[in-house]
Amino acid sequence: MIKKIDHIGIAVHDIEQAIRNYTNLLQAKVIHDEIVPSQHLRAVFIKLAKQKIELLYPLNSNSPVAKFLEKRGEGVHHIAFRTNDIRKEIQRLKKEGYRLIQDEPILGAYNKWVCFLHPKDAQGVLIELCQPRKN
Ligand code: ZN
Repeated sequence: MIKKIDHIGIAVHDIEQAIRNYTNLLQAKVIHDEIVPSQHLRAVFIKLAKQKIELLYPLNSNSPVAKFLEKRGEGVHHIAFRTNDIRKEIQRLKKEGYRLIQDEPILGAYNKWVCFLHPKDAQGVLIELCQPRKN
């Protein structure tokens, strides 16, 4: 079951400038800063009351975020929805004909399992499903 928006991901050209801008704009703090090897990027999370903003900075041209920046420039990259059972959700969406970019959840930022839906199946918006990993 999809429960709520977890975070909104924003692709950026200059991570330090974006951090300064968003922490000032939102009067909020960075709560997490991580290199995500699977996506070749640095993800910096800024905490709001219940949701987060994720600033996405590609580390090299292999990152999907590098391709996004090249094509569209800076801006909203994805919306992430929290689910309590990502595998079940993937199965449900596949059965209903949605195209998923990964067949299996991958390890994303913040120690979460993530999976992306094709933007063509969500009115042009890249959708991330995420589920915190149980340790
Ligand atoms: Zn994300």
